[in-house]
Amino acid sequence: MYQLRLCLLLFISSIVSLQAQQPKKYNSSEIYEAVQKLNVLGSVLYIAAHPDDENTRLISYMSNEVKARTAYLSLTRGDGGQNLIGPEIRELLGVIRTQELLAARRVDGGEQRFTRANDFGYSKHPDETLEIWNKDDVLSDVVWAIREFKPDIIINRFDHRRAGRTHGHHTASAMLSMEAFDLANDASKYTSQLELTQTWQPKRLFYNTSWWRYGSQKEFDKLDKSNMINFDVGVYYPSKGMSNNEVAALASSQHLCQGFGRLSQRGSQQEYIEFLKGEPLQKNEDIFSGIDVSWNRIEGGKAIGKILKLVETHFNFKNPASHLPQLLEAYKLLQNVKDEHWKTVKTKELKTIIEACSGLYLEVSAKTPNAAPNSNVTLDMEVLNRSNANINLVSYSLSTLERGITKNITLASNQKLNFEESITISNNKNYTTPYWLNKKSSLGMYNVENQNLIGLPETPRAVFVDFNLMIEGTPLSIRKPVIYRYSKPDKGELYRPFEIIPIVSASISDKVFIFENDQQKEIEVTVKAGKNNIEGYVQMAYPKGWNVYPEKQKVEIANKDDIQKVVFTVIPPKNQNEGLITPMVNIDGEFYTDELIEIDYAHIPFQTVLMPSESKVVRLNIETRGKNIGYIEGAGDVVPESLRQIGYNVTIIEPEQISPENLTNFDAIVVGIRAYNIVEDLKFKQKFLLEYVKEGGNLIIQYNTSRGIKIDNLAPYNLKLSRDRVTDENAAIQILEPNHPILNFPNKITSKDFEGWVQERGLYFPNEWSKEFTPLLASNDKGESSKKGALLVAKYGKGNYIYTGLSFFREFPAGVSGAFRIFANLLSAEKADKPSFKN
Ligand SMILES: [Zn+2]
Repeated sequence: MYQLRLCLLLFISSIVSLQAQQPKKYNSSEIYEAVQKLNVLGSVLYIAAHPDDENTRLISYMSNEVKARTAYLSLTRGDGGQNLIGPEIRELLGVIRTQELLAARRVDGGEQRFTRANDFGYSKHPDETLEIWNKDDVLSDVVWAIREFKPDIIINRFDHRRAGRTHGHHTASAMLSMEAFDLANDASKYTSQLELTQTWQPKRLFYNTSWWRYGSQKEFDKLDKSNMINFDVGVYYPSKGMSNNEVAALASSQHLCQGFGRLSQRGSQQEYIEFLKGEPLQKNEDIFSGIDVSWNRIEGGKAIGKILKLVETHFNFKNPASHLPQLLEAYKLLQNVKDEHWKTVKTKELKTIIEACSGLYLEVSAKTPNAAPNSNVTLDMEVLNRSNANINLVSYSLSTLERGITKNITLASNQKLNFEESITISNNKNYTTPYWLNKKSSLGMYNVENQNLIGLPETPRAVFVDFNLMIEGTPLSIRKPVIYRYSKPDKGELYRPFEIIPIVSASISDKVFIFENDQQKEIEVTVKAGKNNIEGYVQMAYPKGWNVYPEKQKVEIANKDDIQKVVFTVIPPKNQNEGLITPMVNIDGEFYTDELIEIDYAHIPFQTVLMPSESKVVRLNIETRGKNIGYIEGAGDVVPESLRQIGYNVTIIEPEQISPENLTNFDAIVVGIRAYNIVEDLKFKQKFLLEYVKEGGNLIIQYNTSRGIKIDNLAPYNLKLSRDRVTDENAAIQILEPNHPILNFPNKITSKDFEGWVQERGLYFPNEWSKEFTPLLASNDKGESSKKGALLVAKYGKGNYIYTGLSFFREFPAGVSGAFRIFANLLSAEKADKPSFKN
């Protein structure tokens, strides 16, 4: 083994392809690693709640060192996170984070699974989490994952005994795993699953603990570890030219939208798992103890193992094709094995190895990246045998055709064959889009009914080709999804998945339109053609009380992918009101109401998402005073755009521009979220901001996190931030000072203004302040004490200092009326003498 490892040094492999879309091309080291893995019949399932929760060191170690089949079950797709690389939030962020997990698994060698649980945002307690998720459905999905993947070992990322001390989703993931460990083998539970799979009893359940669970390394060192097993996850892989922790860092650095790009590490590093359930282990016993993870594990496996062990021991790095006879012999034996689970898993692995050993290149590229139902698409096929093996292309079967196309051509060594086929995309409207978004989700759950889809990371590709081959006399079929291959002068060769799109889609320029008075607004709709010669009309669906004209606009687009813009005039009702508008494109009597969203980042494959095209229209009853607002940006929010929507002039003030002269022109200065956490300059500029207040200005500071504040004093008086937050967006609000001007001028604020909020009330409220501050509101989550720090106002000199943890940055993009009315009052504080700028 050691000798072999040394000789592997000759083969430098790069396991990370820069173009995530490119098909995997195996070199000799990778084929050898795949053979090693083929000879291990053991599996590990790692369970946590979110994309980026997973410990890639341990996943990579299990996959690359232990060679176990390893998967990460992330209960959610991370819709509730923040996006540091682009504008996508919510469902679309979940799509990106799903792909980032798949990218991470391509690096660390794991597989990826999910449940239907929706990441609804921060949750303080697993009880709340399991109430918002449908606990029984998520538990059913964890059981389904266990019954399908059939892990020997389950490892929880989080501690099921830590309720209330970490994110509720985290603890809930561990609690559900504990329950599912017992239920998966109970044939009386989730019986409908058993029509598709079998019960399964994992051998052991562990918790992946760490020193930080105990506060410090010192505390952890003192701990009795008799119930724990540790591994050195810093092992070096000569075949990869990398240490395990380097592989792990590359994997977790795929979580770019969460800002997880990080430095790699090398060298010895201990990882601990604590035994929780199952068959007990002796100290330092193997985690698989009691399970034969060799081919002897399955009936009929012994003969297969004998052949494949020889391939592994005598692996020919110069000519892996020399192993084809043995690999094909093993393949034939494997087809007669009774154990369906291992037969399926190992057949897939073995086919990949056979394909790689024979240097087969099979590719199907469409001449266009996408097409609509009923369209014709030309496919280019490339078939190449780069070995001396006797390979015959018997036929190929297109997923769009019922019968295969017979070829019977011998693939002469290194003689490329090209075929062209024209296919017609079926008319079944089976569009390419994430399956979990096909139906409207609830706050806590995706709505997926097809049990076979539940848990899959992506929608299975609808258009593919099966190449039916005869390799050295053994029939073998290899499936390739249709892709689109193209090049760009500044990027080189690129790949995209081939996608099926509607013949027409439509989008509205903004997701929310605020009508701050009864004036009409022009709203632009973009119609995009999914095929040539689109002719029809577009009309708007709109809420009662509103008006839209003209009733219809003609649409005529000659070329696929071209767009046409049409403008509708929207007239709001007289009084406060809100609803949704949807463009409906009618082509040949059929309505199309979806928007086509494209997600294009270099680290993940191109994604197309179809979502109902709709925008919120809000008629506000709002009064405003003052006109010119200065905005100091923090970690990024859309508050400036939202304030412009209600008629303010908003000027972004760069930190270096903060000076007494520059501030005097503004009616109010607003500081963006987390500015005091990230903007270094505020340390030096705070005195000018306070001076501005002293001279009569209004300063409104939005939330900052309690840790890592760049200045000593946020306020002119004592003000201490805490981690107090109210995560229930419907939590009751108590108005503490009903007569305070800020709650009365120019808009009278009532409990109605706290209706329809999204995600949360607010976060990082101060919990200590000096007597100069007046708290205006109180609120709390279920079972907690009243929190009064959501909105604090203090007079300072002639002006007002206002600190608020209310999450305006979330409410504005959702078009929440009350949030606009309250913010208008903050901006208007002490402006009673100034005229309204409204017409
Ligand atoms: Zn998490």
